Amino acid sequence: MADNSNLDKLLKKYDRPGPRYTSYPMVPVWKSDFGHEEYVRALENSSKKPDEPLSIYLHIPFCRQRCWFCGCNTTTLKKEGTHNSYLDIVDKELNLAADLLSKRRRVSQFHWGGGTPSCLSNENTVKAFEIFSRKFKIADNAEVSIELDPRITDEERIQLLKSLGFNRLSFGVQDFNADIQTAIGRNQDEKKTVELYRYCRDEGFQGINFDLIYGLPKQTLGLFKDTVRKTIDLGPDRIALYNFAYLPDSKPHQRLIRSEDLPSPSEKIELFLTAREMFLESGYKLIGMDHFVLPEDELAIAQSEGRLRRNFMGYTVKASEDWLGFGMSSISYVDNSFAQNLSTLDLYQKKIEEGSFAVYRGMRLSEDDIIRQYLIADLMCNFKIDITELENKFKITFNKYFGDTLEALKIFQDDGLLIEEADAYTLTDMGKIFIRNIAMAFDSYLKGNDLKVQFSRTV
Ligand code: SF4
Repeated sequence: MADNSNLDKLLKKYDRPGPRYTSYPMVPVWKSDFGHEEYVRALENSSKKPDEPLSIYLHIPFCRQRCWFCGCNTTTLKKEGTHNSYLDIVDKELNLAADLLSKRRRVSQFHWGGGTPSCLSNENTVKAFEIFSRKFKIADNAEVSIELDPRITDEERIQLLKSLGFNRLSFGVQDFNADIQTAIGRNQDEKKTVELYRYCRDEGFQGINFDLIYGLPKQTLGLFKDTVRKTIDLGPDRIALYNFAYLPDSKPHQRLIRSEDLPSPSEKIELFLTAREMFLESGYKLIGMDHFVLPEDELAIAQSEGRLRRNFMGYTVKASEDWLGFGMSSISYVDNSFAQNLSTLDLYQKKIEEGSFAVYRGMRLSEDDIIRQYLIADLMCNFKIDITELENKFKITFNKYFGDTLEALKIFQDDGLLIEEADAYTLTDMGKIFIRNIAMAFDSYLKGNDLKVQFSRTV
């Protein structure tokens, strides 16, 4: 890690809890009075743009067992029948949405997440794909992606996914070290992960992603460097380097992790900065704060051209304006409105069986929300605030509209995080480490507001 006393000073100043900005406005400010009727209206409005593509997300809320570190919405129901009947409910939800969307059916991005979709049998994997392809037209050049648990994914499954049209795979790796795996309740044979990865490469998959996590129990700098080095040697196209959020109060299963095994805050930051430096030195390009991609990957190319986008499914070049989430706890963004489904299986199923959407909270964005959402997304994806573009797109005068933020921008400049140019603010390399803090300056919901929610720390 670069020796930098200025960095220490900045870390002390800026490392604090804050949103990750996978959405703006952030989830805790969504409202409980946004439900079925509001979502129906949003879908009806969305149907008025029949030629615009859609992004679709399918949530499979099942896992073989609960990993202790995990923050996902998932259950450990293993019965094949449960999975099968869940897909029947998703099919009903899909029919409700498709009827309202009328002719708007073209899909440019289709993502399966969880839980883990690897939990489904081959038969249910085919069934899940078919219920969607019966209703929607997946474009020939669509991004079709899936999250994999390498422990329970075999070559036969990879062949099946390939035949269905999946072209992006995301591997849950976390850390290759066996002791760390034991400390997080997820034993994952390194050899099997590597063999599966090589098999996917031989089968021609591009855009393969590894999820790694820093800040895990028993993770020392030396051990994590091993994992990073092994990852670099394998050369996945994309790496997501997530910050472990230890929230035992809101996620009781995390109490199985011994807090004394966790790295201290300063050790954790060193893990992140060291891994970051190793990936950058080996040629990976930084995307957002904590994603890395090979320079020839389409995400890197899109970023260099300022057209990278991000939604709940991650960074993408295929994002559509509207995306629809299906399944328990899934999130949709339609007609400038967020909508989230109920997060327990029984309640989600009951609502859909009654012929209603299972939306229990959401939010219709105001014009101001949309402007700030655009600015924050551009900052997180393309490392800049394009003043001219914002002024032209939203008919505002930047300095007037964001007058109460100019002082904060000046401080970021003085701290060497931001450079002011004629028509833009650009993040410095140091600023990219503190990107969430800079985004927070534009978040109107944080101003004078004690949200009483737990966010992960910004660095
Ligand atoms: S990490 Fe993946 S496999 Fe483990 S509990 Fe979470 S979603 Fe399931």
